[in-house]
Formats: sequence, structure tokens, C-alpha cells
Amino acid sequence: MKKVLNLPDHVEIRRSRKRKRTISAAREGSKTILNVPFRMSLKDIEELARDLINRIDKKDPRAHLSDSELFERSKELSAKYLFSKVEAKSVTWSTRLTSTWGICTPLHAEIKITSRLIGMPQYVLDYVLLHELVHLIVNDHGKEFDAFMKTYEFKEKAEGYLDALDELPSSFWSPDSFGASPSESREEISKGF
Ligand SMILES: [Zn+2]
Repeated sequence: MKKVLNLPDHVEIRRSRKRKRTISAAREGSKTILNVPFRMSLKDIEELARDLINRIDKKDPRAHLSDSELFERSKELSAKYLFSKVEAKSVTWSTRLTSTWGICTPLHAEIKITSRLIGMPQYVLDYVLLHELVHLIVNDHGKEFDAFMKTYEFKEKAEGYLDALDELPSSFWSPDSFGASPSESREEISKGF
């Protein structure tokens, strides 16, 4: 079946007769509820939802780092979360990584991060960096791995973000679209999102 609306699975659409032209989003447990006008087309909902998500995203600082800054960031994360136990020899962006967020080669202590994450929120990039840093000492995703990752305070938020990224077409999340200018009919961001 053709997917009509490219929104993440955790997003639920609720139509309201009271609502005229705007949409709003609110969290309900693990779900994001989009409240939309009763008659709005799916195409319009998707467009407005994109703007809304973009603006919510803007609250988080975004990561625009060079390769050397990426390397420096990995050192900071190791110091903060891994007691500087782990140090990569090189950390670089890779345009060739398309099916994974990052890879590491423990033998050479090398980490590559997909360039898809350039311009994404810093806490998301940090999560991926930390994940790969932990792989320099733990191979699998078992208990030991979890114990290291648990100390990262934005773990669940970052995992949710990456899950959503995975489900959406790349155009939806491309950094270019983050600057989309809001028009007056695209207002409202509910508290608690
Ligand atoms: Zn992994």
C-alpha cells in the first residue's frame, strides 16, 4: 500500500472541527499528536507538519562541525561520559555512509560519522559519536554497552529523533529545509513538545 503521508509512526493525526487553518503538536506519552483542521488535505498537513517540526527543532543547537571540530568533540564526550578512557585516533565525516549513522574500526581507533548528520541537533550527533566511542571498547550492544550509554542524558530523545529520521524521506529532514520561513497560518507550538 502506498504511504500517503510521510510522517513518523509515533505521530498521530487528530482532526478537529473547531480548528480552521492551523495545526498544533503536543506530546502524549510516547506519541506526538498533531491537531489539524477537519477538512485539511493530507498534502497540506504534511507541509505544515514539516514546518512545525522544523521550528521545534530550531530550539536545539545544531551541529556544524569541521572534521577537526568533530574530533575535538569526541574528546570532550569521552572526558564527560567515559572518564577519558576511550580515545579515537581519527573522527571524520563520511559522505559514503548512507545506511548507518556511524562506524568505527577498533583496530585503528577510527570513527566515521555520516554527513547526513551535519546540521542536525548537537545532542543527536553527540549520541552517535558516543555510541561509536563506546564501540572502541565494547563490540556488541549488550549490557556493558548499555551501561556506558545510559549515562548520556539525551539518549532516548536522540534515539527517537534518529528513528524518525530513518522513517522519513531524506528531503523531509535535509538541513536545507530547516530554514523554511513560517507564514502566519503556520503558527502554534504547544507547550510540552
Ligand atoms: Zn553500534
